[in-house]
Amino acid sequence: MSDPFRAACVIGWPAGHSRSPLIHNYWIRQHKLDAEYRKEAVPPDAFAGFIAGLREHGYVGANVTLPHKEAALALSKPDERARAVGAANTLYYDGDVLRSTNTDVEGFLANLDAATPAWDRGLETAVVLGAGGAALAVVYALLQREVSRIHLVNRSVERAQALAERFGKAVRPAGWDERSGLLGAAGLLVNTTSLGMSGQPPLDINLRCGDATVIADLVYDPLETPLLAIARERGLRTADGLGMLLHQAVRGFELWFGVRPEVTDELRALVEADLRKK
Ligand code: NDP
Repeated sequence: MSDPFRAACVIGWPAGHSRSPLIHNYWIRQHKLDAEYRKEAVPPDAFAGFIAGLREHGYVGANVTLPHKEAALALSKPDERARAVGAANTLYYDGDVLRSTNTDVEGFLANLDAATPAWDRGLETAVVLGAGGAALAVVYALLQREVSRIHLVNRSVERAQALAERFGKAVRPAGWDERSGLLGAAGLLVNTTSLGMSGQPPLDINLRCGDATVIADLVYDPLETPLLAIARERGLRTADGLGMLLHQAVRGFELWFGVRPEVTDELRALVEADLRKK
C-alpha cells in the first residue's frame, strides 16, 4: 500500500516572506513523496485555535515563524532545546501528542560543521553579537559544543545580561563598544543582530582577530553581507546565514516525512535565485 498524502506548513503573520515552502517542496519532489508544504497566514489571536485543529486542517506538523514561536512553545510539549531557547519553530505529532523543537540550534551547528569543518576543535572563546531570539539558539548551541567563554555583546546590555543569567557563567555580557576589542582572543565571531540585512545599516566592526578565527553571519539577505565580504577579503573562513536556514529545515522534514533530506548545491542555488529575485 502506498503512503497516505501528507501536508505540512509554515505558520506566520505575515507568512509571505518565508522560504520554507521552496526548501521543503524541493525535497518533496526530490524524494517523490505524495506530500505538500504550504504557507498559512494566521494572526496571533487565531493561533491557539489553529494549532488545536492542526491535524483537522490536514497537517502532520508545521514550522512556526514570527510572531508565534513563544506561543507554539506554550501550546506543545517542547524538547529540551526548545525549552532552553524559549521558542519553538517546529511542531510535530508523536502519536496524539503535539511536540515541538527548535531547529535553529542544529541548523547553526550543522552549517558551521559543513562550511568550516573542525571550527570547534580547541575553541575556547566565541564572540556573539546580539541578544535576541537567534542569539538564544546560538548561545545554547555553543554551550552544547562546550565552548567555555562566550562574550555576548549587545546594544542594550541589559538584554545580554538577562541572557547570561539564563545560561550561566560561561556567558559574559558586554557592551556594544567592546565588540572589536574582544575579538583578539576569539576563535569564532557570530553576528546574530539584524545589522547587515538589506534595509539595515551594515555591521560596523574592526576584525581584529587572528587568521584562524571563523566568522558566521545569520543574516541571509543579502547572501553576502558586508561582514562576510570583509572576512573573505581577509582570507578568514566563513559560514553564511543561508546555510543555516537550509540546515535548520532538515530536522522538520525528517520528523514529518520520515526521510532525512540533504542540503545540496542545487537546493542552495534554488533559494539563492529566489532571494535575488525580489
Ligand atoms: P531580534 O529582533 O530578536 O534581535 C535583534 C538583535 O539585533 C538584537 O540583539 C538587537 O539589539 C540587535 N540590533 C538591531 N538593530 C541594531 C543596531 N542598529 N545596532 C546594534 N544592534 C542592533 O531578532 P532575531 O534574533 O530573531 O534575528 C536576528 C537576525 O538573525 C535577523 O536578521 C534574522 O533574519 C536572522 N536569523 C537568521 C536565521 C537563519 O536561519 N539564518 C535564523 C534566525 C534568525 P537590541 O537588543 O539592543 O535591540
